[in-house]
Amino acid sequence: MSETCLNLIDGAMRTPGRGAWLDVHEPATGLVIGRCAASDEIDVDRAVSAARRAFPAWSARPATERAALLENLASIMERDAEELALAESRDTGKPLSLARSMDVPRAIANLRFFAELVRDWVPDIYEGAPAMGGSGGRTRTVVQRAAGGVAACISPWNLPIYLFTWKIGPALAAGCTVVGKPSEVTPRTATMLAERSIEAGFPPGVLNVIHGRGSEAGAALVAHPGVSAITFTGGTTTGAAIARAAAPSFRRLSLELGGKNPTIILGDSTTECVVPGVLRSAFLNQGQICLCGSRILVDQSIYPQVREALVEGARALRLGDPLEASTEQGAITSQEHLLKVERSVARAVELGGRVLCGGARPPRESLPERCRNGWFWQPTLIEGLPPQCETNQEEIFGPVATLIPFSSDEEAIDIANGVRYGLAASVWSGDEPRAQRVASRIQAGTVWVNCWLVRDLRVPFGGWKESGVGREGGHDALRFFTESRAVCTVSIGSAPSAS
Ligand code: NAD
Repeated sequence: MSETCLNLIDGAMRTPGRGAWLDVHEPATGLVIGRCAASDEIDVDRAVSAARRAFPAWSARPATERAALLENLASIMERDAEELALAESRDTGKPLSLARSMDVPRAIANLRFFAELVRDWVPDIYEGAPAMGGSGGRTRTVVQRAAGGVAACISPWNLPIYLFTWKIGPALAAGCTVVGKPSEVTPRTATMLAERSIEAGFPPGVLNVIHGRGSEAGAALVAHPGVSAITFTGGTTTGAAIARAAAPSFRRLSLELGGKNPTIILGDSTTECVVPGVLRSAFLNQGQICLCGSRILVDQSIYPQVREALVEGARALRLGDPLEASTEQGAITSQEHLLKVERSVARAVELGGRVLCGGARPPRESLPERCRNGWFWQPTLIEGLPPQCETNQEEIFGPVATLIPFSSDEEAIDIANGVRYGLAASVWSGDEPRAQRVASRIQAGTVWVNCWLVRDLRVPFGGWKESGVGREGGHDALRFFTESRAVCTVSIGSAPSAS
């Protein structure tokens, strides 16, 4: 199967203007399985121009009509869910079972959620403030929301369709037109969505999808003066470059960036209750989720038994062909990223870390024939490193977590907060009030108590510190894609009629 990922511009799938392409690989085999458009600033300009032309009519349509089109698209994706899951698994290396149970259902849910939310979205009204210096009447202020223009939606490779829909869903619902830029590493499912948006009946130019390198297509999109709002999920360094590019023209900016999330296991936890959830938070999607818990902080009173159970659990994770139903750990999404994971583990060892399990690629012969040249890394746990060292400070974004003992809740909080990131955390304890006390002092946008990756889509999502700017989710997302207009009225009575 070799697939070509075209751009969607002005309602049609198009080849890139200069005819350049990028290879798309299957991480499980290392083989090229397709190609995607290597778009340049001319393709980007065409897409932004189409989006600008489509904006007046789209933003003027009633929210119910925009919502209905999003729901059409969600239904078509549901019809084709199996095809989407297979494409997502082949592009990313994630287990097909995960793409089926998480990525694709969540993408469909994102579209439906924002369709429903915008339908019921009513203006905020503030009544009763006494008017100053006028009639003495009372004010009524209606905060109207007007779609902000063309939105650039830039997404990463770890949760391709899940995060792409998380951005384009609220943008389209709110009345923006969109130029989406999925990751060039995993372009297939966004292309499938683009094709299906035509079938769903979106008018030309409302949704455009541009493929290509971040440094070319992405940078051209961010720099384009026709773009009013930029929403980006990806690495912190890229986020900083985008913030610099957007600053001079004061464009609206939402940045969801990296994390170095703590998993805090308090002393009154029982191993059986916490270990499965902690392992999931460290290794789901091969640890390539921005919310993964990569620093496991353990009360020293229970450290030996927790360590033993975690190591046993990590060793038992079934690594193999992502397309096999039994596989729990698939491949690392790119060769470049596998090399980064490898370098990070070597550095941890150099710094004095003790590898408790994993720490290497799996032996070739342990992999099925088809996957022997694939990009795999064994689930890895490392101990013996101080909280301030590079391994415990910098994001690795792979199946690698460290174990750090602590001697008091106060110390755990200090270690948890002692990084430049603040995306997420989880706290595990049999004593819920104690866990809540700890949770309330964590500097992170999301804190889970005795669970992980449970998401209510109405809840604000985003990071503190260098994990991001702004919030996605629920009404925060709709607000981001709109400008407010506060219309303040004082009734002064009408003149008597002439008759
Ligand atoms: P990345 O920053 O390399 O790329 C993300 C996207 O930005 C891609 O589409 C890429 O083509 C594009 N891009 C790259 N350079 C650009 C530029 N100069 N201008 C415009 N666009 C550009 O990130 P990645 O490697 O794809 O993803 C991994 C990172 O994403 C990790 O750091 C992870 O923590 C982060 N992430 C964060 C969240 C969150 O919600 N906070 C979620 C998922 C991933």
